[in-house]
Amino acid sequence: MKKSIKDLGDIKGKRALIRVDINVPLDENKNVTDDTRIQAIVPTVNYLKEKGAKIILMAHLGRPKGERKPEFSLEPVAKYMAKVFGEEIVFIPSVEEAAPFVEKLQDGQIALLENIRYYKAEEAKDDDMTFAEELAKLGDFYVNDAFGAAHRNHTSTAKVAKLVKPAVSGLLMEKELRCLSQALDNPTRPFTAVVGGAKVSSKIGVLENLIDKVDNLIIGGGMAYTFVKANGGKIGNSICEDDQLEVAKAIEKKAAEKGVKLVMATDVLATNDFSGNGENKFVAINEIPDGFEGVDAGPDSRKAFAEVLKSSKTILMNGPVGAFENPKFAEGTKAVLEAIVEATKNGATSVIGGGDSVSAAKKFCKAEDFTHVSTGGGASLEFIEGKVLPGVAALDDAE
Ligand code: AMP
Repeated sequence: MKKSIKDLGDIKGKRALIRVDINVPLDENKNVTDDTRIQAIVPTVNYLKEKGAKIILMAHLGRPKGERKPEFSLEPVAKYMAKVFGEEIVFIPSVEEAAPFVEKLQDGQIALLENIRYYKAEEAKDDDMTFAEELAKLGDFYVNDAFGAAHRNHTSTAKVAKLVKPAVSGLLMEKELRCLSQALDNPTRPFTAVVGGAKVSSKIGVLENLIDKVDNLIIGGGMAYTFVKANGGKIGNSICEDDQLEVAKAIEKKAAEKGVKLVMATDVLATNDFSGNGENKFVAINEIPDGFEGVDAGPDSRKAFAEVLKSSKTILMNGPVGAFENPKFAEGTKAVLEAIVEATKNGATSVIGGGDSVSAAKKFCKAEDFTHVSTGGGASLEFIEGKVLPGVAALDDAE
């Protein structure tokens, strides 16, 4: 457990240097098109405001790769945030100019520093602490609320936390860590994981770590075909990684040894046109005709997945069970999510971790229908793999 802002004493008048993840999408007119990440930091910012701290936010936008590129400026985001917080956000145009802006801040006032990735030193993979020292001058204590960037070993996510003490987690970071670790380390059983997505290779770490922890493992989506082929099935033109056939076999063997129930699709929706406008038909997953590829779980598989999910008490989903972006191939993923929602209503803990599952969850259900929908794609993936996140490791341990 890491210390959080709730463990801090009197912080009135103190300068809170906070790393947040407000990497939001902007349209061509620089309007924020999805403010989920901004809304997610509101509790932390408001908590610190109410305590009278001076708030200095550090964040990145996109990948300017160490250069001051105006298209990656956070200024339009500061303007949008003014509407969210109902007050002007002091925009600090550069680290070099930051000191006088920070000095003038009133208790409870909010400032946002320009894109931290304008500086090469932010992402540099070295031990040079010069940039971290510059940033450290701006804060009396450090808060990391950027779960979505916690897997990065960067200056603003990890190095600064070594210089500004106390270094604590924000409320969003705390919730992310609590929900993910509770599911992984202390699950109410039965514990079921749904692992889907396009490739086995990108989910090996996830599968290997989960197999030691879960009771049931539902494997769906594009990666299932590598398993089917490894067992001699006919997969037609389905997505498959021939160099992962042995890995798939090893995962199956480990599941058997550990007594983990592997739940694979038995039937699939196959198509001869990935755009969805060709012929689409349900076939057995190991008898997909040439010229066709599996793109979604079929009705029998949906039923089997839903049955397991509805009797589970802890559920973790990482990856869709079909190419759900196309509405014609979305029914399987929708059925899985609806079963998770039902289980949640009946008292199960459900955690949706990772980029594509999160967009599917929001598309077909409401975020509130789940116990927790993670804000971090790469970070939640690495957490589920059991890796240490540098941005978390750098924070102070709770007493
Ligand atoms: P990942 O980033 O590995 O979690 O993969 C997510 C992507 O996998 C989504 O964009 C899905 O459209 C895609 N996907 C899931 N099932 C399939 C499938 N059967 N064939 C092709 N792509 C798929």
